[in-house]
Amino acid sequence: MSKDNEKKIYSKFLEQTAAKHLAEMIRCRTISLESGGSRDEFYKLQGVLHKLYPETFALCELMRIDELTLVLLWPGRDKDAAPVVLMAHQDVVEATGEWTHDPFGGEIADGFVWGRGAIDDKGCLCAVLEAVERLVIAGHKPQADILIVMSHNEEPMGTGAPSVVSWLREHDITPSMVIDEGGAIVDAVLPGVKGLTAMIGTGEKGYINVRFIARSRGGHASTPPKSSPLGRLAAMIDTIEKKPPFAPKLDPVVKDLFKRMAPHMSGALKFVFRNLWLTAPLLPRLLAKMGGEARALVMTTCAFTMAKGSGAPNVLPEQAEVTANLRVAVHQTVDEVMGQLREIADRYDIECEQIYAHEPTAGRLLDNPQAEHLTSVIEQIYEGVNCAPYLMLAASDSHHFSELTDKIFKFTPFHLTRELRGGIHGIDEKLPTSELARAVLFYEELIRSLPSF
Ligand SMILES: [Zn+2]
Repeated sequence: MSKDNEKKIYSKFLEQTAAKHLAEMIRCRTISLESGGSRDEFYKLQGVLHKLYPETFALCELMRIDELTLVLLWPGRDKDAAPVVLMAHQDVVEATGEWTHDPFGGEIADGFVWGRGAIDDKGCLCAVLEAVERLVIAGHKPQADILIVMSHNEEPMGTGAPSVVSWLREHDITPSMVIDEGGAIVDAVLPGVKGLTAMIGTGEKGYINVRFIARSRGGHASTPPKSSPLGRLAAMIDTIEKKPPFAPKLDPVVKDLFKRMAPHMSGALKFVFRNLWLTAPLLPRLLAKMGGEARALVMTTCAFTMAKGSGAPNVLPEQAEVTANLRVAVHQTVDEVMGQLREIADRYDIECEQIYAHEPTAGRLLDNPQAEHLTSVIEQIYEGVNCAPYLMLAASDSHHFSELTDKIFKFTPFHLTRELRGGIHGIDEKLPTSELARAVLFYEELIRSLPSF
């Protein structure tokens, strides 16, 4: 048999095995306890992991933190080398709406593994463990300790990951790098960009939930006052949406992202990004105007998500509220943004209450040995893919690790089309089995060729 044929059969076997394993994980309904899920489903998943990866669980030391979060320690050769942390969360969000295949059925059809968590984040969980199991069976010993961190409440921004960080602190362990879910391999990062890009998140926007409360003396709907609480809230929303108080700014990481994209752009965009020395001062405003992801990359965003008035159509509310979700740009702080919101809310005699917040974490360029190792493995496994740093717009578990290291890479090693990305937290989440197999090879190579940092 030719080497090529051998390789094909080998990878087909890997693809089918990994797909079956991922399907079995999906059949565990691990909705976080915070969202009404059941403990038993997490124990069921953990039983499945033990069964599917017996050599890994036999060799690695297993730690249980915060009850349901698991940490596997795979001892490395070099005892002086700082460990590498690979993260993937066990919990998933709920699945509502009409699905083509049962979201918790774990079905494999038409080249996909279907179901909630297929991408986010059981796909990564499966790929990491599959890679480790294969290396353990082959007798490989990693250069440095590998810590596999599997939290149980990433989606509700729960206690699992922060508890692991506290545990690492107590044991005086500083990882050399952390790899967690994040940007995927995508096409057309910006309009007009050709080719595939591996989006490696090195920083992350901050997060605020804020409640705006407008009060009145109530009264009857037949004799309404001139200014009602809902009217004031509407006026405030209108102001914030039409004239957001947050200034756009081009972060060095975003600037680097565009610089790397420039050769793959066409037309006017190419000129703009090729000549950043000239155009940089104009860019923040230009990108802010483009909307969508381009806008979210350069400024704090505010989305009004919930509203509440009175309980009946003919009763004026004594109190009306709206809730907003903000993603804080890395050049701002939570306090600064809250100050800007308060100033606007004051104008309409509205109170502002911060419900939850965490600060943004600044990004880094891909110019350190850890990033170089990661990008060289990506370029090897995914031929013709360009790597670029970026700032993650969504929140993830790994931001907790920023107090331990600034070498955090938020990267999901799947090529995800817009359609596939739409399944994340949406309907018909599914992962091509070929992408799962490639992700196994990615983690395998990442560990196999790991240097000491
Ligand atoms: Zn996730």
